[in-house]
Amino acid sequence: MPRIVATILIGTFLTTAGLAQDERPEDTEVWEPEPRIVSAGIQGQPPSDAIVLFDGSDQSEWQHLDGSDARWEVEDGVMTVVGGTGDIRTKQSFADVQLHVEWRSPEVIEGEGQGRGNSGVFLQGRYEVQVLDSYDNRTYGNGQAASIYKQHMPLVNAMLPPGEWQTYDIIFRAPRFEDDGELASPGYLTVLHNGVLVQDHAEIEGLTVYIGAPYYEAHELRQPLQLQDHGNPVSFRNIWVRELD
Ligand code: MG
Repeated sequence: MPRIVATILIGTFLTTAGLAQDERPEDTEVWEPEPRIVSAGIQGQPPSDAIVLFDGSDQSEWQHLDGSDARWEVEDGVMTVVGGTGDIRTKQSFADVQLHVEWRSPEVIEGEGQGRGNSGVFLQGRYEVQVLDSYDNRTYGNGQAASIYKQHMPLVNAMLPPGEWQTYDIIFRAPRFEDDGELASPGYLTVLHNGVLVQDHAEIEGLTVYIGAPYYEAHELRQPLQLQDHGNPVSFRNIWVRELD
């Protein structure tokens, strides 16, 4: 008998013997607390405990960075960037979240590289998950769609063609700071793009910056979610978050 098989057999015998003598199945059963019930949404619709940030009707949950009413276009249940109006952010603030966003880059292709269908989902107004038309549109990997901009390229390119709706399902763990402003623990992002894993518990290195290395700046735990006006008419729909404990 090969040595490894013998070892496994002996191990199995010992485990079974130990179980029979002093352990019961119920010793490792956990009954309390009972996970609370959430009604799952169908096909990306909000679960029962989600906070809906855009349901297609209006931009009442959003404002520009100066506090003025959001002036992006809302039509046929879709919110579209109006170039030059500026970024919009939620009136509510969040810490750790599960976030669902659906977005669409313009069907008519204009520009290339970073200039084609560029927008962004800024967690806490600081940490960007890039929105870009990265379908047959090469740019630097850590700047293409589903990258954590200038920090982590996506694991794969899961783009659908321009004009089609795409989904981001994002699990965000916010960074924590000490009272003196020192970083206590970094943020983390897990992202599924159209159901495909593209960021796997990626460590956020700091603020999204265009030039130079990212760095952390201390902030309150709860911050608004922000969407980017990069001048391209990118559309959004069905945006919701679930706050995580
Ligand atoms: Mg962007």
